[in-house]
Amino acid sequence: MGKIKCIVCEQLYNGCDKKDAAYKTITCSDNHFQIHLIVKDYANGNIDKEAALEKLNKCDLTGYESFKTSTVKVINEIKKEEVKKTVKKTKVSKAVLDIEESNIKIETENKE
Ligand SMILES: [Zn+2]
Repeated sequence: MGKIKCIVCEQLYNGCDKKDAAYKTITCSDNHFQIHLIVKDYANGNIDKEAALEKLNKCDLTGYESFKTSTVKVINEIKKEEVKKTVKKTKVSKAVLDIEESNIKIETENKE
């Protein structure tokens, strides 16, 4: 079984043979999978900053500064709004999401 790069922290991890845990196909841990979902939902406009921040606060963000650059940007954006309330649309995040979606595709193809 080859190593897979986590789409959140970019660390290599062992993929699983059976798809027993959904998160294992794209992330190294359930925690990172949750973070990915929040970042994705936020970038998609499915949840607002307040909801995203509330969910993020429940996750372990230890060392998130070294996560994938695009993910860090979105997390920083979510966290930034907490102190500085500016009304800003998430155009950058949309682009980030497109990149992430294509990465998922590539990683899935490599795996199989
Ligand atoms: Zn990870």
